[in-house]
Amino acid sequence: MALKLNFKAFIFDIDGSLSRGNSPIEGASEIIAMLRRKGKKILLLTNNSTGTPEGYAEKLGKMGINVSQEEILTSSMATAVYMKKFNQGKVYVIGEEALSSAISREGFTILNEEEAREAKYVVCGLDRHVTYDKLAAASYAIQNGAKFIAANADRSLPVEDGYLPGAGAILSAIIKTTNVRPLIVGKPSKRIMKIAMDRLGTTKDEVAIVGDALETDIKAGRNSRIYSILVLTGVTKEEDLATSRVKPDLVLGSIAGLSDLL
Ligand SMILES: [Mg+2]
Repeated sequence: MALKLNFKAFIFDIDGSLSRGNSPIEGASEIIAMLRRKGKKILLLTNNSTGTPEGYAEKLGKMGINVSQEEILTSSMATAVYMKKFNQGKVYVIGEEALSSAISREGFTILNEEEAREAKYVVCGLDRHVTYDKLAAASYAIQNGAKFIAANADRSLPVEDGYLPGAGAILSAIIKTTNVRPLIVGKPSKRIMKIAMDRLGTTKDEVAIVGDALETDIKAGRNSRIYSILVLTGVTKEEDLATSRVKPDLVLGSIAGLSDLL
């Protein structure tokens, strides 16, 4: 009998899984529509901390992939949700507007560089305007006892012709300086997966995660014991899979391959 995936909900990575740059991956909009017809819940989960749900919903909508803002969870939002469990306090952020505003919406006060030594928390995500002064401010705050939190630890950011430094590259500078490791919220952490499942209202047995990256998407599935599906439309090539210690439950050429399994 052919394999059927009877999950109640599907978590999708965005970049390299549903879209590439400003183009949809072939079959993505059809699969999302098919899942809706079958009454499945959908959540788009991205480690990218620079975008907002509104921005993603609009961008994907233009590609014909119709999702609501409520169906999108970024590592910035997950970080803000995760921080609810902490006492209120002042926060120094290395990151972009989407990260600062998500944290500020939870009632935390955001400090500037000069005030950073007063921080109770240092939160770091991708910041394409990072400077030596920002790294110094974050490092001082951590030396003074601030809790160190990372929206994600992605080493690099794939672009058309190679890779750019990711949030993990910025984190490395602070880790080297302070010898303190951050608490990581984004994939592959169980923290973001718990937040995702709370949002979906499902248990881990009822969910599958679909993504293109072994070290984030698939490892997130493995760490949380969630069925994981690797798609080969992004950063992972078949030869990478052969040598990786992280193995998905299922490999598909692309998201379109789901159509026969639903
Ligand atoms: Mg991806």
